Amino acid sequence: MFETLKPLPPDAILGIMTLFRADQHAGKIDLSVGVYQDEQGRTPVLASVKRAEKAIIDAQDSKTYVAIAGNAGFNRGVEELVYGANHPALRAGRVATVQTPGGSGGLSVAGHLLARANPSARVYLSEPTWPNHFPLLKLAGLTLDAYPYYDLKKHRVDFDAMKAKLETAKAGDLVLLHGCCHNPCGADLTKEQWQDLAALCERRGLVPFVDLAYQGLAEGLAEDAYGARLMTERLPEVVVVTSCSKNLGLYRERVGSASFVSATREQSQLVLANVSNVARGLYSMPPDHGAAIVAKVLHDSELRALWVKELEEMRNRLNGLRKLLVDELATRKTQMDFSFIANERGMFSFLGISKEQVIRLREEFHVYMIESSRINVAGINRANVDYVADSIAAVLK
Ligand code: PMP
Repeated sequence: MFETLKPLPPDAILGIMTLFRADQHAGKIDLSVGVYQDEQGRTPVLASVKRAEKAIIDAQDSKTYVAIAGNAGFNRGVEELVYGANHPALRAGRVATVQTPGGSGGLSVAGHLLARANPSARVYLSEPTWPNHFPLLKLAGLTLDAYPYYDLKKHRVDFDAMKAKLETAKAGDLVLLHGCCHNPCGADLTKEQWQDLAALCERRGLVPFVDLAYQGLAEGLAEDAYGARLMTERLPEVVVVTSCSKNLGLYRERVGSASFVSATREQSQLVLANVSNVARGLYSMPPDHGAAIVAKVLHDSELRALWVKELEEMRNRLNGLRKLLVDELATRKTQMDFSFIANERGMFSFLGISKEQVIRLREEFHVYMIESSRINVAGINRANVDYVADSIAAVLK
């Protein structure tokens, strides 16, 4: 039977990784990776996570199953992070949250639940978006569509085009929004734009579906939840998916959540029963270790304070590198204005250079990035920023 399977086109990001590994040049620089890196180019285990992990291992006396919905302390902690402790929707019992295997698992579980609740719903994805949104939601059985988001030439969100497209969506359709640190473009909505969008969703009966994979890495934990919280105040139904891969560095532990805001407490109970049934059919139980770590970090005041500090360091490093790169490029007097990079947030930005220039950067200068010119800002550090800026300036000549 396997002979019937079709060969797949090579994965663009994996292809760049292979080329990078094969490059023997000592000064090669990888700006294509999708994970946070510190000044030494490492993706470390956070000290708060290490301490929580040790306490858990010492205290754990069973590996029996936890629950289909996962670790209850984790789910409570995530709800408080996303909505704020006193959000009216939480107090009204209108929120149901399940722990999932990473944010990807959250998107998949949410996708399956949405397809069950409204099989004719369309999900509008931002153009561009994180490429994995397509397979995760398509395999869940949803119909996908797109709204224009980032104008690559003007280096900004094309909000008018976005709204114009969403005006054509029908009631019950979903709008997938990046909560903060848009992947891949780094350009987030302003507060005013979130408010405008909430009004549009309200008027047209659209359901916001917020992917919050980088909470705390743009402006701060509460600040980055602005959009998700506003939507939850204004609309009867909202879906929020989170990930602890980046903000707690728990990538391989697979920790995330899918959270559903319903119109009433009764509907919320229906959601919880159905989403548990969906998870049961997909993977049965989520892995516990990472979620137990997060629960410990969030509910232990000392560990929580340490994590908040570590998160702030990551955020400040990213925002500092953005400014540093812009300043370094400005001193080289290229014909391009890169100041937009300092206004964008999170790990990713498009340089906005051509595919040929990206290939020259790779082949002549050993600087690697995705062909779209998306860079991971965290791959830059004080030791390599001069070389990166020189190389970019050279291919722009
Ligand atoms: N959404 C977006 C926009 C992402 O960039 C990512 C991670 N790259 C995820 C969700 C999910 O990540 P994970 O499954 O590792 O938690």
